[in-house]
Amino acid sequence: MRFCTLMLSLAAVAVSTSAMANPTYAIVIHGGAGTINKAALTPSQQQAYEAALTEAVNAGYQVLEQGGSSLDAVTKAVLVMEDSPLFNAGKGAVYTYEGGHDLDASVMRGDNLAAGAVAGVTTVKNPVLLARAVMEKSDHVMLSGKGAEEFAKLQGLTLVDNRHFDTEFRYEALLKAKAAMEKAQAKTPHQASIRLSPDWSPAWNMGTVGAVALDKSGNLAAATSTGGMTAKRYGRIGDAPIIGAGNFADNQSCAVSATGHGEFFIRYRVAADICARVKYGGVSAAEAANQVIHQELVKAGGTGGVIVMDNKGNISWPFNTEGMYRAKRTEGQPIEVAIFQDLAKKSQ
Ligand code: ASP
Repeated sequence: MRFCTLMLSLAAVAVSTSAMANPTYAIVIHGGAGTINKAALTPSQQQAYEAALTEAVNAGYQVLEQGGSSLDAVTKAVLVMEDSPLFNAGKGAVYTYEGGHDLDASVMRGDNLAAGAVAGVTTVKNPVLLARAVMEKSDHVMLSGKGAEEFAKLQGLTLVDNRHFDTEFRYEALLKAKAAMEKAQAKTPHQASIRLSPDWSPAWNMGTVGAVALDKSGNLAAATSTGGMTAKRYGRIGDAPIIGAGNFADNQSCAVSATGHGEFFIRYRVAADICARVKYGGVSAAEAANQVIHQELVKAGGTGGVIVMDNKGNISWPFNTEGMYRAKRTEGQPIEVAIFQDLAKKSQ
């Protein structure tokens, strides 16, 4: 009898372990990485970020729970973060050097590698919806600037004045960034392609939002949206709208959304490299993501992080900065929300 009970308990453990290792559906989101330390974040700010992350991850999770597609789930989660002033995407986007907002976004589906992206749009309220329209309703993968806005109008998307994206906090960041740029001018004339000096890379300078999900049909999808980097100039485009750099999804390997110093993520084609390591190198998605974020990028001097999901729903979220706003929810498991490094290590 005792033996039977023991066998039953062992069987129960085995069942729950395999269920956890192969969840039916899951979503993970990020709200940007950077120098996020506890001292700089007041308890009420922390609570506000945690609440916004919870709302976004739950919005995506509900789509999956009801049998919706991973593409719908990541779109929904990113929409929530674009509409929140807390994140550097949509409302709350960072300022360009000239004092406006230029937005980038992309989406990708893992079943057929369809993708859509927009760069440098200034009046589209939710760039993630435009990226999706590019994928679903145009013959192209990436549209930019005026043409992208014309297309948005034709698609009936909500257009707003560029001032809609303004926030006090990001404006102060612009002033700080300009002061730091002036100070560093002699040493760092091309801030976009070299290492950022320590006084030129705190939280105010970066951020992005993203989501990756696996749905009940086993399809992966990824979405990323950003205002880019504070004080960017000359029509600078980051990694977020570049398929394979800041965003990627392939059912044969994994889905990735990135955040960090875009110039490095572009040159090291971070998202595609992680998935290629899984597909051709036979390593786990977590191992691949750790190799790229903690070895390749660290060697190069690139800062940031990624959220990654493999085609079984296993999640990892490594970053080489002090923090990364993030949350995840897997079928049958409680939601996890985290900001700082210590928690990241525990839950990887
Ligand atoms: N990756 C974004 C960019 O370079 C910024 C960020 O994620 O912090 O535009």
